Amino acid sequence: MVIVKRKELSFWERLYLPEVFQGLSITLRAMFRKNVTRQYPEQKLEVNEVTRGQPRLAVNADDTIRCVSCGLCEAACPAYAITIDGQETDRFIEREPERFEIDMLRCILCGFCEEACPKDAILMSDELELADFSREALVYDLEKLKRPVSALQPRLDYIYKLSNRWNSSSSSS
Ligand code: SF4
Ligand code: SF4
Repeated sequence: MVIVKRKELSFWERLYLPEVFQGLSITLRAMFRKNVTRQYPEQKLEVNEVTRGQPRLAVNADDTIRCVSCGLCEAACPAYAITIDGQETDRFIEREPERFEIDMLRCILCGFCEEACPKDAILMSDELELADFSREALVYDLEKLKRPVSALQPRLDYIYKLSNRWNSSSSSS
């Protein structure tokens, strides 16, 4: 067994005054530094078309939903957050969702559903806030997910701009 002999501290050393003053000086300096803390919720996070917020379903100007219930987003979702039941419709698109749910507590905002969708029907909105009083309330249904396509247009323009960039760089190489 090794016994470590510690140095006996003097009375002044046991008051730890230098350390106390050093700590106070750090606190004082920090008080006059520029504030870097966001005062949420008064100060909101800035959002734009690049923001990958919660996914939403685009609704056309004539109030029809774009989704054709193909299930590709459901298959692409790594978090198993999407549940779709399709139904037949007399519209030109033939199918549309009867039930479309996204469990927002599972969603990791990865954007795979947006990438998988062949109809530009599911898009990452700039909506980031998520709060409610029960888990059930955070499973968003069709009505909660619908947004007019005009509200999602900046995101749509952005993803088309991105894919054009990739297309032009691959054709020039
Ligand atoms: S953003 Fe990702 S996790 Fe969320 S629903 Fe879409 S694919 Fe699933
Ligand atoms: S991939 Fe698009 S069209 Fe297909 S089910 Fe999902 S949202 Fe609807």
